[in-house]
Amino acid sequence: MVAAKPEPDFTKKKEMVHSPLLTYFSVITLLSTCPPFVILLWYTMVHQDGSILNTFNYLKENGIEGFVNIWPRPTAIAWKIIACYALFEAALQLWLPGKRVEGPISPTGNKPVYKANGVLAYVVTLVTYIGLWWFGIFNPTVVYDHLGEIYSALIFGSLIFCVFLYIKGHVAPSSTDSGSSGNIIFDFYWGMELYPRIGKNFDIKVFTNCRFGMMSWAVLAVTYCIKQYETNGKVSDSMLVNTVLMLVYITKFFWWEAGYWNTMDIAHDRAGFYICWGCLVWVPSIYTSPGMYLVNHPVNLGVQLAISILIAGILCVYINYDCDRQRQEFRRTNGKSLVWGKAPSKIVASYTTTKGETKTSLLLTSGWWGLARHFHYVPEIMSAFFWTVPALFDNCLPYFYVAFLTILLLDRAKRDDDRCRSKYGKYWKTYCTKVPYRVIPGIY
Ligand code: NDP
Repeated sequence: MVAAKPEPDFTKKKEMVHSPLLTYFSVITLLSTCPPFVILLWYTMVHQDGSILNTFNYLKENGIEGFVNIWPRPTAIAWKIIACYALFEAALQLWLPGKRVEGPISPTGNKPVYKANGVLAYVVTLVTYIGLWWFGIFNPTVVYDHLGEIYSALIFGSLIFCVFLYIKGHVAPSSTDSGSSGNIIFDFYWGMELYPRIGKNFDIKVFTNCRFGMMSWAVLAVTYCIKQYETNGKVSDSMLVNTVLMLVYITKFFWWEAGYWNTMDIAHDRAGFYICWGCLVWVPSIYTSPGMYLVNHPVNLGVQLAISILIAGILCVYINYDCDRQRQEFRRTNGKSLVWGKAPSKIVASYTTTKGETKTSLLLTSGWWGLARHFHYVPEIMSAFFWTVPALFDNCLPYFYVAFLTILLLDRAKRDDDRCRSKYGKYWKTYCTKVPYRVIPGIY
């Protein structure tokens, strides 16, 4: 077998998918626009009735000064809420029991080891949070009422955290899977370390992506529901459908968390602004935004429509899960698992690691992975649509997350294709011939 090109070298410049000019432009644009966007989205949802036009008119009248005035200052209570939550999640990550799980072999030949205690941490978090409310110890409406200050604190706190990651990558990397691109902006944006840890056991990306980011999504979904209940004395069916679907999705995420440690976010994207700031700030603010909108916009869907949306959403979450599960089982059993009741069709692809060793990977070419090379993104986007559609169509802002996710995943499909082409060479070409569509069968 002929070896394909080696995996990207950590000591060399990060391989650019787009042209250098476009890459610089998009990195600088994202670094400078994401933080204010988080505040504008929260402000529009909570203080301008979800209307982009209202916010636009306000900014037109008041200019930059008006924008500075709506940006909430991080208050002591916001810092306290974030600190308690972060310390609680860090303690659960460190001390709850869990099975030992190995991640995939890294480009420099390391095998990260994790403790799989995500489901337990998820259950303990939600039971504690709802219990605190139920027994009158802490009212989640406090979180909603200080949401702007919390986002503001998260924006600044997470930027400082990314500076810490950058410095750590330079002076004290946790493993050989680390390196500089030679460009300070890219190092800060894309990150330097693949598997940064504090001590031997505290994995920073598991904390930022799973236990802080994804967990905050569940906590905020419950918060929005409780806020609507406390304000109106009842929860609308639209809010219920939204919350249940988001919780089903997040439950699926924690159920499959060890699988997530094999995905691009963990195994390929390094710890920097893109992944870590994104999970610490973007997930709690943007991903939860359809629920944030529904707090003040309770829609009555009626039982039939509510149940239809719920079933369609759960089906999409299930298909997305099944795509991930199929690939994972296929790899775990070394291509021996049945795919849709039949022996799988596959490609045995070899590649060379940065150390010059030749290794092989199996590429599944049947089942969901035979429909399109990234078909799993379709049910992911559809799930997001179904937990947003209970807001109906009075405003387009609740659909921002669906639109953002579509762009993110189409770009990700291209990035992943390029990375796999450079890793597997002619084997990836064969896969592309066998499965010609990138995301949507017959269309794209
Ligand atoms: P995955 O990492 O799960 O899949 C891509 C990787 O799988 C490739 O890099 C390659 O890695 C391997 N691979 C590719 N094709 C095949 C094949 N035919 N057979 C076997 N292995 C293959 O992708 P993602 O990380 O993008 O997605 C994981 C999950 O996370 C999905 O459910 C997705 O929808 C979700 N997601 C959600 C996002 C959100 O913001 N809501 C964002 C991104 C993802 P290798 O080098 O090992 O060969």
